[in-house]
Amino acid sequence: MNGPSVQQLRETLAALHAELVRYELVTWTSGNISARVPGANLMVIKPSGVDYSNLTPASMVVCNLDGELVDGDHAPSSDAEAHGYVYRAMSHVGGVVHTHSTYATAWSARAEAIPCVLTAQADEFGGEIPVGPFALIGGDAIGKGIVDTLAQHRSPAVLMRNHGVFTIGRDARAAVKAAVMCEDVARTVHLARVLGEPVAISPGDVDALYDRYQNIYGQPAAPQR
Ligand SMILES: [Zn+2]
Repeated sequence: MNGPSVQQLRETLAALHAELVRYELVTWTSGNISARVPGANLMVIKPSGVDYSNLTPASMVVCNLDGELVDGDHAPSSDAEAHGYVYRAMSHVGGVVHTHSTYATAWSARAEAIPCVLTAQADEFGGEIPVGPFALIGGDAIGKGIVDTLAQHRSPAVLMRNHGVFTIGRDARAAVKAAVMCEDVARTVHLARVLGEPVAISPGDVDALYDRYQNIYGQPAAPQR
């Protein structure tokens, strides 16, 4: 199967983790990105507990889809099991991102979905950004909560209750974009609600915006499957 090599994915992930810092989505060592290795039951993911300033292509680790270390000098992120669960359950997903970005996580602390009141939100998320269940780390609980919630929505982002954001994409870059956009939407809708009651976009208009953005907007791309 064609696609990026493990080494290319290590380099891509090191660069994308710097984007989490640049967009102020992470604090200390929280947050992580992974990418599926095409044609293998493997993923590349951030190591556990390494400062963002010390993340390099070589420090990324390779895991199987049970979250177990296959290759690398560090232990994998403690969220590796959750990332692996997503890849096992959702064959179209090539990248997963997790952050505790401030505004989105504030919505998760209230267990409140972000209503679709912005055209940019309709474009990217196709409706509300949903809330997933409360889940303790370890085992399949977080992964199952992500998959079960996203299966019922068009959104590539889920607010896991009392925890933070998980996003998915066809590749790691797309999942990072969803994480950046999720925080932007969470902040704007929060501000809107501080000032008054946000006005919903009709379901028909949400559908029209989502369809145009996902299928027509931007540069032509190879068909995604
Ligand atoms: Zn977390």
